[in-house]
Amino acid sequence: MTDHNIPTDHIDVLIVGAGISGIDAAYRIQTGNPGLRYAILEARDAIGGTWDLFRYPGVRSDSDMVTLGFPFRPWRQEKSIADGADIRDYVRETARAFGIDKAIRFRHRAVAADWSSATARCSCAPAIMITPPAMRRTGRAGTVSPGASSIRNSGRRISTCTASASS
Ligand SMILES: Cc1cc2nc3c(=O)[nH]c(=O)nc-3n(C[C@H](O)[C@H](O)[C@H](O)COP(=O)(O)OP(=O)(O)OC[C@H]3O[C@@H](n4cnc5c(N)ncnc54)[C@H](O)[C@@H]3O)c2cc1C
Repeated sequence: MTDHNIPTDHIDVLIVGAGISGIDAAYRIQTGNPGLRYAILEARDAIGGTWDLFRYPGVRSDSDMVTLGFPFRPWRQEKSIADGADIRDYVRETARAFGIDKAIRFRHRAVAADWSSATARCSCAPAIMITPPAMRRTGRAGTVSPGASSIRNSGRRISTCTASASS
């Protein structure tokens, strides 16, 4: 059920996660349907998903980046089996290059979504991740621990509408 006392942002598409999939989805939406308003909820404080999270020595792709990369911004680097850090930079730079980074709400975890058939809207209450400074990403393996974060309600709901682009 939507709580009507909570302020609501109305958007058309809500993307969960700012990894490769989320950045790709955002690109498809803004190029294919430029009239749609979208937002990306990202539980962590960084773009890249897998490629930001895993930083152990030697982390790299299994398949070639021509396959794994974005078709709309092809991988141009020499190594096609790429290091994790290079993939992370590539995903981040792609998000920036297309203005997708501006649509990301960092430290917002999607925790629930309610569908209303009556209004043809989905309402999502993201929780803001509160991460103690000591647990934040430092670039060393083992220092990222989302499970140690606490969460609180963002105090704001986001609703999406699949039926039309109206607010
Ligand atoms: C070492 C390694 C090598 C790999 N090599 C390859 C390869 O060569 N080829 C290949 O195809 N795949 C490979 N993978 C798999 C790889 O994870 C995926 O290909 C790809 O990076 C997944 O991208 P994604 O955006 O779907 O998910 P992720 O990268 O996992 O990103 C998901 C994002 O969503 C966020 N999120 C999750 N839940 C929520 C929520 N409820 N609310 C808000 N945010 C949320 C997360 O914080 C994260 O940032 C590899 C994985 C690893 C670990």
